[in-house]
Amino acid sequence: MAGEWTIRELAREAGVSRKSVWAWIAEQGWERPASGPWILDDEQARLVFERFEQTAPLRTPREPIPCSVEACERTRAGLQDVCKMHYQRRARTGSTERSSGGDWQTAKTHCPQGHEYTPENIYRFPSDTGTRRRCRTCRIAQSSASKPRDARG
Ligand SMILES: [Zn+2]
Ligand SMILES: [Zn+2]
Repeated sequence: MAGEWTIRELAREAGVSRKSVWAWIAEQGWERPASGPWILDDEQARLVFERFEQTAPLRTPREPIPCSVEACERTRAGLQDVCKMHYQRRARTGSTERSSGGDWQTAKTHCPQGHEYTPENIYRFPSDTGTRRRCRTCRIAQSSASKPRDARG
């Protein structure tokens, strides 16, 4: 009973997250000190390692696995099959494919106010670059709203 293990040390040694070690220990009903860090003895530590021996390689591979997107040099994020950047892109666009802001704009069919982008409703300034579109309905609404009203006859 010489060993004194904190959750942090156990998690690091077992190669799993502190949270998973904590959760499993809590399930065992082991006595927890009223204050201070939870210290476990060698026997308890052994049980923890035994428990996480099987799952550890799956949870935190010792060798970082590269992102599954071709030509991506980054490593996978957590349990994802792709890196963090590709994961976020996929969450945002539904695909790991790179899409320029212009393509994304083009894919939209309505202006922010919900007016449909029909050929008649789209206008562009000569200074506009790329595929930027402006909504004519919004433009008309804005200009008529900002016009001073002359209610007197
Ligand atoms: Zn990637
Ligand atoms: Zn509009």
